[in-house]
Amino acid sequence: MHKDPQYYIQGVLDSNRLMLSRTITLIESSLPAHQDMVRDIIDKLLPHTGNAVRLGITGVPGAGKSTFIDSFGSLLSRLGHRVAVLAIDPSSTRSGGSILGDKTRMMNLSVNEHAFIRPSPSGGTLGGVARKTRETMLACEAAGFDVIIVETVGVGQSETTVASMVDFFLVLMIAGAGDELQGIKKGVLEVADAIVINKADGDNQRRAELARKEYETALHLLTPGSKDWSPPVLTCSALKQSGLEEIWEMVTQHRSIMVTNGELETRRKQQALDWMHFLLGEGLKNWFYNHPSIIQQLPTLTDDINSKKVSPAAAATKLLQYLNRM
Ligand code: GDP
Repeated sequence: MHKDPQYYIQGVLDSNRLMLSRTITLIESSLPAHQDMVRDIIDKLLPHTGNAVRLGITGVPGAGKSTFIDSFGSLLSRLGHRVAVLAIDPSSTRSGGSILGDKTRMMNLSVNEHAFIRPSPSGGTLGGVARKTRETMLACEAAGFDVIIVETVGVGQSETTVASMVDFFLVLMIAGAGDELQGIKKGVLEVADAIVINKADGDNQRRAELARKEYETALHLLTPGSKDWSPPVLTCSALKQSGLEEIWEMVTQHRSIMVTNGELETRRKQQALDWMHFLLGEGLKNWFYNHPSIIQQLPTLTDDINSKKVSPAAAATKLLQYLNRM
């Protein structure tokens, strides 16, 4: 590792891919010295960020996310954009990198010199993985990527985490599977800016159109997050590369509406504040549980709860009282 943060900062601002990769490796490191330096680097990069379109994509395994990102990213590249693809997948600790682990998942984009693909950071909690992905997104923006795609698998809590760091959240679906089969929770539909039914090709086209109508009805029952935007439902074929231009048109239209009415700025400010509070919460929790008094008291109180000597509420109150002495 280089000792001078400026070495990384300049490399990223020069759009040097190798330096961007090295900076991300630093971001992903959990060594305290690296983390100190990362804070410094991100602070200096911050004024050069914020201009990219931040696009989140979720969908169950098999919905066609990698095929879609490959085709869609290639289209954006043809339109002159520089696309970075990142991922949030906390489960990659278990599976050894299930998402984006394999570059062949995006065959065209991975050899495109205007695109940058980074697999999900492995190890740690969803919060830890999210922090790394957020900082990586900022580094990519500072390096001149103007569309950032953050991908996540539609299981667990990671969808809402991705939704909380992007400008546009797209849910990719396929026809012929009920909601429960697709594992899409109501909470995910509530944060969706659009739904896209993929695999609308061949024999599947008609079913895709039926699914589109069904989801349109389902979305009508939800209150949209913005008074100026009702989430549309579109169809596409990532494989045949049809319907993709319309999706990009929709994203740019959303962008221009949100810039004009000020909601993009409000959304990003709120995301930044939420993020600070989240980090504060995590930090406090870590600090609390690592405090010697708590480490000492917790096992005894756990036994006391198990043997019904104290109530959980009383135990929590007692532990929290240590805060006054810390
Ligand atoms: P992911 O798990 O969501 O990343 O899904 P993949 O992109 O790996 O796609 C899963 C399978 O669906 C693969 O066999 C793809 O070839 C196929 N697939 C993806 N998009 C389409 C599409 O638009 N049409 C059809 N017919 N198949 C597709």
